[in-house]
Amino acid sequence: MPSKLTPLEIYKITPKTNCRKCLLPSCLAFSAAVVAGSKKLKECPHLKSEDIQPLEKQLAKTQEQPALQAAFLDKLKGKVARLDFPKIAKVLGCTVLGDELSIISLGKKFNIDSQGRMTSECHIIPWVQAPILSYITHKTHMDITGNWISFRELKGGIDWQGLFTSRCEQPLCKLADRNPELLTDLIDLFMGQETDTKRYEADIGLILHPLPHIPILICYQEADADLESSLSIFFDECCGHNLHIKSIYTLCAGLVKMFEHIALRHE
Ligand code: SF4
Repeated sequence: MPSKLTPLEIYKITPKTNCRKCLLPSCLAFSAAVVAGSKKLKECPHLKSEDIQPLEKQLAKTQEQPALQAAFLDKLKGKVARLDFPKIAKVLGCTVLGDELSIISLGKKFNIDSQGRMTSECHIIPWVQAPILSYITHKTHMDITGNWISFRELKGGIDWQGLFTSRCEQPLCKLADRNPELLTDLIDLFMGQETDTKRYEADIGLILHPLPHIPILICYQEADADLESSLSIFFDECCGHNLHIKSIYTLCAGLVKMFEHIALRHE
């Protein structure tokens, strides 16, 4: 899967002279405009085609992602319109408030109307919106089992394992290494629970509910003289029945990004 191109990556190949021949005040402004799609790389007369070519394919992918995301959300909203909220609420672990379905994600309430529009006390970001709509429109559903399994044991997990390790477990482990208090702080912030860690050979075990029937268990082992630190995220067996693997990955990657922002504020 190609990674998104950032303004900084474009900036690296510009001459950094701020000559304004691209009609923008600086090379950095030009780089941001290229990523946003309002400028083309060739509008900087100083860039050589050998610099431009390797980036163009990646750039096209970066620019089409918001459109793909919007199309995916529209498709999900179409499915929501066909749902019978009173019938499905209990099965999903949600409640009905007036005409809306109310769902708790990490202790925060999100309300969804019959057109799939979402309101919340929190800022609604795409990584929350798409998994919530995917969860309520998912064809199958299973209650929480209490059996924890690894990501690769979830249906389709093997295909996403590499990305899951590099974007979720590894960055969260680094974050926990730098901020020893972070994981325990998350318990208060997101109504998590601490759990017995002996079974998982971990120092900290933390259960969070990103969605009502999507419990995750984060196990963190601090580094010691002989061993590097490690962090694993486990899932209740029901997760693979309640959400598509891509949405599970999106949810976890979004969580890690949010934890990074929280840690930055702490630091
Ligand atoms: S034309 Fe190129 S070098 Fe000049 S400001 Fe724009 S990006 Fe920078």
